[in-house]
Parts: sequence; structure tokens; C-alpha cells
Amino acid sequence: MSLSWKLGRFAGIDVFLHPTFLLILLLPGVAENLPLVLAMFGCVLLHEFGHALTARRFGIETADITLYPIGGVARLTRMPRAPGVELLIALAGPAVNLAIAAGLCLTLGVGSVVGAGGFMANLLVMNLVLAAFNMIPAFPMDGGRVLRALLGGWVGRGKATSFAAAVGRTLALGFGVYSLLNWELMHVALAAFIYMAAGAEERGVLAEERRRNGEDAGGTDWSAPAGYRWIRTGQGVWRLAPIHVDATASSWGGRR
Ligand SMILES: [Zn+2]
Repeated sequence: MSLSWKLGRFAGIDVFLHPTFLLILLLPGVAENLPLVLAMFGCVLLHEFGHALTARRFGIETADITLYPIGGVARLTRMPRAPGVELLIALAGPAVNLAIAAGLCLTLGVGSVVGAGGFMANLLVMNLVLAAFNMIPAFPMDGGRVLRALLGGWVGRGKATSFAAAVGRTLALGFGVYSLLNWELMHVALAAFIYMAAGAEERGVLAEERRRNGEDAGGTDWSAPAGYRWIRTGQGVWRLAPIHVDATASSWGGRR
């Protein structure tokens, strides 16, 4: 994070701007539409706060939020394992963009929005695009987490992650090749990012699953509370069991 510039601290969460963000200023059309581009990234920031503040409701803090040219990243201090919680946190981001779009729609009046153009109408469309793009059911988009949360209880978290990551890689590959053929280099970079992020998410979750299943020798770092120990009950299922103190071995005395 040391590379990034701190923009400020909101709701107790530091917000950073990554230096590569300046690259978007070089894109054609951006300099002329700077207010709109900045407003869009304001909406991206609100999207990330949607995730962060929902996570907080479930006791998960956010280390920081960083804005990149391809979007924002909220770094949660831990990943929710309960599918219902993961679902709510994932949906909260796109829900913010839908709420902004709905608010703009009400402000502008539905009739005047269609084909109106102009700043507010463009911002409205951008928020709809942001919500739709993020709901693509593939990692690292929010839709990938939604897909995992929905599949997880059925096929298991590891398999659900691999599936969502495979969808992400396939879409990224198709999008990347298409963009390369059309010489859209920014889109090629976005595709490469999505491809790598999908793999990183999968590796992280699979490593976590292996740890939990006790397959990593010595990798068990979850310590049992005092008086309890982990016992294996087969098929990678572990249970906390109270440590049985043998009365004859105890030094409390008085029993014999
Ligand atoms: Zn999101």
C-alpha cells in the first residue's frame, strides 16, 4: 500500500489511490469528460463502501480501499465463510450502484432519462453498467462470489470456487483475444487482470480449504480455546472437544 496515495479516511477506513490510476487520463475521451470520469470513480468508491460497511455488520473489518484504473478493491481482513454472509457482502456493492441509478432516475424523471444524454443520464447509465459488469458470475467479480455462495452449500466451497474461477478465466480469455484483435489495449490489460485475479482467488481458497481439512502438515494455525482440542471425525471434518482431564492424573487431590 506504500505505493499508493492516501485520499483520506472515511468511516474508519483508509482510502488510497493507486498511481496507475493516472493512466486513465491518457485514454482518449477521458480528459474532455473528466468530471464524469471522477463522478464514476466516486460511485466505484461508494460501491466498495457497500461491501465494507456490510462486512462490518458481520464483524469483518476492511483493512483499506484502493482505487485502481480498472476499479476499486476493498481488502477485507478475512473472508466470510458462511454462504449467506458472503452473499450479502457481495450483493451490497452492485446494490449501491443500482440505488444510485434509481436515485438519479427519480431526480431526472423516468421519461427524460431515455436518450437524454448529459451528465446525470450518463452517470445513471454508468452505474447500471457497473452493477451489471460486477454481477458477471465469475471471479474476481462480485457475481463470482454470489455464484460461490449459491453453489458452496451444494458442491462444497472448494469446488464452487474452482468453478467460478474457471468461468472467470474462460470469459477473460475470450474477452482478451477479442480485444487484442480490435487493438483495444486497455481491455487486453483488464482481461489479463481478470484472468490472474481469478487464479489468485482460487489458489487462496483452495489453500485455505486444505488447511482446514488438515492436509497441510503442521499448517493448522487455528488454536483451540483453553480446555478444548480439535479431534478429527473423519472426511476432513473436525470438531472441538473438551480436553478430558483424567481424575487420577490430576494434582488436585482429595479424590483418592
Ligand atoms: Zn464489488
